Amino acid sequence: MLTVLTLSSCKGEKRTTRQSFAFDTVINITVNENDVSHIDEAFNLCNKYENIFSRTKENSELYKINCGLKTPLSEDMQKILSFSQELSQITEGAFDVTVAPLTDLWNVKERSTPPTDSEIELALSSVGYEGVSLSPFDAKGRQFDLGGVAKGYIADRLGDYFKEKDIGDVIIDLGGNVLLLGEYSVGIRDPFNPEELFATITVKDKSAVTSGAYQRYFEHEGKRYHHIIDPRTGKCADSGISSVTVISPSSMRADALSTAIFVMGVEGLRLCESFPDTDALIITNEGDVVTTENFAKKYNLQYK
Ligand code: AMP
Ligand code: MG
Repeated sequence: MLTVLTLSSCKGEKRTTRQSFAFDTVINITVNENDVSHIDEAFNLCNKYENIFSRTKENSELYKINCGLKTPLSEDMQKILSFSQELSQITEGAFDVTVAPLTDLWNVKERSTPPTDSEIELALSSVGYEGVSLSPFDAKGRQFDLGGVAKGYIADRLGDYFKEKDIGDVIIDLGGNVLLLGEYSVGIRDPFNPEELFATITVKDKSAVTSGAYQRYFEHEGKRYHHIIDPRTGKCADSGISSVTVISPSSMRADALSTAIFVMGVEGLRLCESFPDTDALIITNEGDVVTTENFAKKYNLQYK
């Protein structure tokens, strides 16, 4: 979760924030007061994408796909699945949107005890991006969960809308997954004490996304079970890191990479090198900070 603190490029104009709720997430959009009429259209876009990517909304495109309906993919679904497949290949399955049977099993929102090993084995046997074909589409019986990438994709589409209208100085905040038009100071939460900030960074015309073990979890016998699953073990990712923040011009990329790096651990930082202008900051379980090259200078990293 990230918190946008201030707009450095503010020219004294009054700012307005409007709030909505979609994909189980609080959405905040902030613009200069003159541009406020555009927020409704941005919220309409959120509804449009919820009707495509939601797992739970009956009749969404994803819902139908997960029910086994064989309809051609929409352009948006094609794009998000093809990016996800590519990332699954690069990460050798650390990121995998066919993880749905496992996220259902772990259901960290409602569970208070972990599933058994045999339940995990069973769910694992229906997970795996290999074999899924996009054109023509054949899910090969897989179930998809786009929770690790859809917010980023949607943030990018909202960003495109504001850019097309030539509107600057916009904060698009989908539950802490932020896309910024303009330059802002952004707070990275302390994963060990999420009410507090760990550090601040300066981000201009980019997206910043954090994945952390403190966002959704339950505790059992002193151990924390959180919402990011390692699809290779079927268990909660346990790579030695407490949070990872990714900054990229593409919010979809930042979103998916943050989930992927959380599964992969510090070695996942190398992933950023394969994407243009994309960086990351990891806070390890020991509270150490590891980043891509020149991160502190590039983003004016200030510890709190
Ligand atoms: P994020 O908070 O962006 O890191 O995304 C976490 C969400 O992504 C979870 O709530 C699941 O819906 C989904 N997810 C969990 N583990 C994975 C994984 N290994 N690969 C892809 N998506 C995942
Ligand atoms: Mg993500």
